[in-house]
Amino acid sequence: MTQVHEPICGEKTKDLIAKLRACPQVENGITLAREQQQQRIDEQIKLTEVPAPPFHEEQRAKVFAQLLTEAGVPDVHQDKIGNVIGRLEGTGNGPTLVIGAHIDTVFKEGTPIKVTREGTKYFAPGISDDAAGLASLLQVARCITSQKIKTVGDIVFVGTLGEEGNGDLRGCKFLFKTKNDYDGMIAIDSANVHRILRGSVGCKRYRIIFESLGGHSLHKFGIVGSAIHGLARAITKVDELNVPNEPKCTFNFGVINGGTSVNAIAARAEAELDIRSFDQPSLEKFVETVLKTIQDACDEENKRWDFEEENAVKLKIEQIGDRPAGVNKDDASVIQASYGALQSLGIPLEKYTLAATDQNIPLFYGLPATTLGAGGVEANNHSLSEWWNSENAFQGPQIAFLTALTLVGVDGVTQPLLEKQIHS
Ligand SMILES: [Zn+2]
Repeated sequence: MTQVHEPICGEKTKDLIAKLRACPQVENGITLAREQQQQRIDEQIKLTEVPAPPFHEEQRAKVFAQLLTEAGVPDVHQDKIGNVIGRLEGTGNGPTLVIGAHIDTVFKEGTPIKVTREGTKYFAPGISDDAAGLASLLQVARCITSQKIKTVGDIVFVGTLGEEGNGDLRGCKFLFKTKNDYDGMIAIDSANVHRILRGSVGCKRYRIIFESLGGHSLHKFGIVGSAIHGLARAITKVDELNVPNEPKCTFNFGVINGGTSVNAIAARAEAELDIRSFDQPSLEKFVETVLKTIQDACDEENKRWDFEEENAVKLKIEQIGDRPAGVNKDDASVIQASYGALQSLGIPLEKYTLAATDQNIPLFYGLPATTLGAGGVEANNHSLSEWWNSENAFQGPQIAFLTALTLVGVDGVTQPLLEKQIHS
């Protein structure tokens, strides 16, 4: 039975948003996002054309820091690992909201990243993911600073490192581990403004390696163990596990390699395993079960043939990925503010779903966090044929601007919706 989730926007939130929209500075900010669309596109192109390959985001980080300063955010600096951070202070004593987009791309050093254009369509690897998010972030900053909007809570603007792939969210991990006055986060990632993420699927990944001495398929039969036979037994045994349904857990052996010849007992075989769950304790429990099952399979293989110790198959397990799970309540402050902002701006919600982004980390720490679209339309992300259409792209910064203000409050207009946490 899968549960159906819908976001909630209560009367209190609707009232806060109505008050904000009655404030001329806020309305001017919303108008400005539309008026400055060309500047936003220009900045998006500029950022796209600065390389930011995995683990080497330095160049783009510098350019983003410069643009964030130009957008009026004070004290822009880089933390110890290179995240770009600037803080707009509120009146004091309010909550602190982080609003971020990731600097890194999936493309390796030397990938051609010159942007080409056909009408409103722009082509280049990374033009959308996540140069669109960075450009939208800059626009949100300008909407606030140009109107001299004084917020109650603080807004921390961040360009994060290492969101993609093997970066394993290292920028955001560092950010939330070292700084504990943050009360919530909005990530801007992917273009789609009709999507709000309600949480993150947790994911752990492993390389399962079986090894043995190997040998001739006739002469060593029954004497030396086969890495392939061991691995096959492990996969079969995991395949027969009872998998928890609620919350949903999954496993997948997605890659398998091993052996050298049809007439040789395989000395090595390995598989890559991906395990996911919608909640962290269930994920950890299920991982424990799966890894134990694999160890049992190895023992059974050796027992079945009664191999001598040196001829037995041996098991090694390496962890190759770790993204924590976390899901908001459907009436969490960030969900209410985002959904309310969409409704107020007349933008239909089409997707309310789970995905892995920078939001995983604050959610893991129990903080409300979601991911919003940067605006426009994107396709072919993570490929050389990635493109982005700028039509109505201003909606991205409009939504993030209104959501952020709803969460932190505006001095003399609204109280913050975001709750201040007790930070230890
Ligand atoms: Zn992304």
